[in-house]
Amino acid sequence: QILVLGSLNMDLLLRVPRAPQAGETLIGHSLALLPGGKGGNQAVSCARQGASVRLLARIGDDADGRALRDALARDGIVLDALQVDPQEPTGRALVMLEDSAQNRIVVLPGANAALQADEAALAQQLQGAQFFVTQLESPLPVVLAAVAAAHRAGCPVLLNPSPMQPLPDSLWPQLDTLVVNEVEAAAYAGCAVTTPEEAAAAGQVLRARGVARVVVTLGAQGAVTVEQGGCRWQPAPQVHAVDTTAAGDTFAGALAVALAAGQSLAEATARGVRAAAVCVTRVGAQVSIPTAAEIDAQAQL
Ligand code: ADP
Repeated sequence: QILVLGSLNMDLLLRVPRAPQAGETLIGHSLALLPGGKGGNQAVSCARQGASVRLLARIGDDADGRALRDALARDGIVLDALQVDPQEPTGRALVMLEDSAQNRIVVLPGANAALQADEAALAQQLQGAQFFVTQLESPLPVVLAAVAAAHRAGCPVLLNPSPMQPLPDSLWPQLDTLVVNEVEAAAYAGCAVTTPEEAAAAGQVLRARGVARVVVTLGAQGAVTVEQGGCRWQPAPQVHAVDTTAAGDTFAGALAVALAAGQSLAEATARGVRAAAVCVTRVGAQVSIPTAAEIDAQAQL
């Protein structure tokens, strides 16, 4: 089983020809309510790769929360640790998506900001887990405590430190796998990251802090892996990207499932790159995440 701790948001997806300038009014294409949030997205990605998944998250006692819960249940995700906040509303994200596939996102954390991790329950959940997966859209003290608990329990930790925020030095040695995009890699390693060579260099810097394995995702360029044996670049297949929302989450989930199944970092990254390539060809967060069968059916990927 994969244990995911993270956020759940209802995405308000506004499609526009282009983003308006300050003071400008323009006519949009459409508005839709779709399930999202990095924790939910990563859990769905794991589940659609065929893994058993438990999600530790918090929703509000409202229609958005119930819709999110129902969507996760349809993916077979174990929700016995899902918390319902009596006061705060379910998290929301305002996503403005341009025809060019550029997006602009504002998150309102709501109930996510009150997520709690019960130590005893967590210890029990970690016993049955092969991997612990988390991000930074949940309160940092809760994330840090859960990572420490997983590390103590001998459960490998995959951290996707997004949205980026300063992290304590003590965290890095507790990580089995760190998944960072270009911006995060550059900020944490303190160097420019746009090319695969620069990504490899940034990955080496982060490994020197104690992370066992680093994967730097490079958007349309694919991903670079850095581990003891060396660095490898896994280019992405060429696809027509319409919406990159949840691409990183799709990647992280598929990667975690493959690693939990004992695949090498290179093999698992190849799977993540193929999964994310399908995700970017579709609009929306959780609705755009492919199943294992869908990835296999795309022979050209
Ligand atoms: P994030 O979405 O977290 O910022 P990236 O933009 O690096 O992260 O995207 C994550 C992964 O999604 C990439 O490593 C790549 O495999 C895939 N991806 C993103 N954009 C594209 C694209 N335009 N074409 C193909 N794959 C893409």
